[in-house]
Amino acid sequence: MTIELSIKEKKIFEKAKDFSISNFTSEKRKWKGCDKSFKDAVKIFSDNGYCGLGLPLELGGQGYNFLEQALIYEGLAYGCGVLSFLIQAHNNVTREIGTFYNTSREIKELVPDMAAGKRINAFALTEESSGSDPSSITAYAELKADCYHIHGKKKWIVNAAEAIHFNVMVKDGSPNSHNILMILLDRNTPGLTIGKKTPIMGLSTMSCCDMEFNNCIVSKKRMLSVKGYEEVLTDIDAASVFVPSISMGIAQRVIDLTVNYLGQRISFDKPIISRQGVQWALADLSTKVEAGRWLVYKTASLMDSRNKISIQAYENNLYAAEVAMETTTKCLQFFGAEGYTENSVLSENWALAKLLQIVDGTSEIQKIVIGRELELQANE
Ligand SMILES: Cc1cc2nc3c(=O)[nH]c(=O)nc-3n(C[C@H](O)[C@H](O)[C@H](O)COP(=O)(O)OP(=O)(O)OC[C@H]3O[C@@H](n4cnc5c(N)ncnc54)[C@H](O)[C@@H]3O)c2cc1C
Repeated sequence: MTIELSIKEKKIFEKAKDFSISNFTSEKRKWKGCDKSFKDAVKIFSDNGYCGLGLPLELGGQGYNFLEQALIYEGLAYGCGVLSFLIQAHNNVTREIGTFYNTSREIKELVPDMAAGKRINAFALTEESSGSDPSSITAYAELKADCYHIHGKKKWIVNAAEAIHFNVMVKDGSPNSHNILMILLDRNTPGLTIGKKTPIMGLSTMSCCDMEFNNCIVSKKRMLSVKGYEEVLTDIDAASVFVPSISMGIAQRVIDLTVNYLGQRISFDKPIISRQGVQWALADLSTKVEAGRWLVYKTASLMDSRNKISIQAYENNLYAAEVAMETTTKCLQFFGAEGYTENSVLSENWALAKLLQIVDGTSEIQKIVIGRELELQANE
């Protein structure tokens, strides 16, 4: 077992980090994070090879493995966490559509444009009364002749304002069904209403909207999977590599900014960083980020070797989100009032860290899954 990144892997990370800093951060305002809207950013991502990351080359993608993708999202997040999160959300759905499911030719033909960022994808699972427990969704699709008729509502859908396609999870036939289907729905489908953007704490770049399906009729060729629940879990496994890598990117960025700031900021005649209490706190954070980073790389490597990774994925997700939250909270405090301004890197990354404890399964749900696995081991 080699516990070191190769030269190629290090370069992939550094390139993504440099690209993100030079394209998405502004020197004009002192601590400004992201300067671009997601729509503008997608074109820049695409022109520079950051769309379609996990898709094979023959489908118009970049052909990166899981570890390489994790390194890229970590590097992108160093420059701008929220844009790294948003492009990851699009890329991940695209990768799944291109590689996971046994899709129709009609869907396969859309994949190259998705991979190029010309068609943005979103993932629509959550509903008003169904978040942590996906099996309780009530949106449903009835098959009549060759078409599905979709009814119901979704909530909190990221990139919904920009998306052309939605990977929608619905019950099979009726709200009480035990089976979940995944269907690819176009934005312009009659009967589909996309609500206004929900204002999100501290993350103005992110669009997040409700959706309503009022007898949306789609060809059954738009079926992505009849094993929706299983596919959701597979999707969460993949997100458990990429989302934690974003946590590590933002955590390292705020540590670096804090070290720099406290090295210059004088109080009681000395740079604040010269105080032992401050150094010890930063030492703790730095150690946790280093540990979290290697947990991400290990989980990504396991995904690449196709091992069963479930518990590892949940541990990775849990630890990275907790470390990012602790790091951004403490570093914001180290900046004093300067960290508390709207849209500063500190406040933006703090808000993103909080989101990363909620989205794709809350920290509590991660603990429940890990705990159940441990209980099973106790009973073996
Ligand atoms: C900005 C943003 C973007 C999002 N993007 C998307 C998206 O693109 N697509 C999508 O489908 N969804 C999206 N979501 C939804 C997100 O995945 C859900 O919010 C998340 O899964 C949690 O569901 P919930 O908010 O309904 O919380 P709930 O399930 O209502 O839980 C509330 C609280 O109770 C805790 N809890 C629940 N059950 C238990 C239990 N058994 N034991 C102990 N504690 C428990 C939870 O951890 C949480 O703290 C997004 C959410 C946000 C905020």
